[in-house]
Amino acid sequence: MATRRTAPHTPMPAAFTAADYALPGTLARRYMRCGKDNCRCKADPPVLHGPYLHWTRTVAGKTVTRTLTDEQAQRYQPWFDNARRLRELLTELETRSLHAFLDAEG
Ligand SMILES: [Zn+2]
Repeated sequence: MATRRTAPHTPMPAAFTAADYALPGTLARRYMRCGKDNCRCKADPPVLHGPYLHWTRTVAGKTVTRTLTDEQAQRYQPWFDNARRLRELLTELETRSLHAFLDAEG
């Protein structure tokens, strides 16, 4: 019996339905410097602007960033969580399948 490195079969959660959404990309909280020369963000020590919530994703090889409000970020967080969980599940499924293939075919 081959040693399994992956967890035993776990069923796909029923938590996802066709009515669910999954947003690609990542949400990051960032502090920024602006373009003004005598701004507090250029002081010593600097007082940076923000935090800003930046949603970053890749579209046709290009990084696209959009700033979200706290309220928007809160409202769409479950969509980001869904996408991340789906990526994790796909990785698990592919790893398990690869092991099953190698167990069977050598
Ligand atoms: Zn500034």
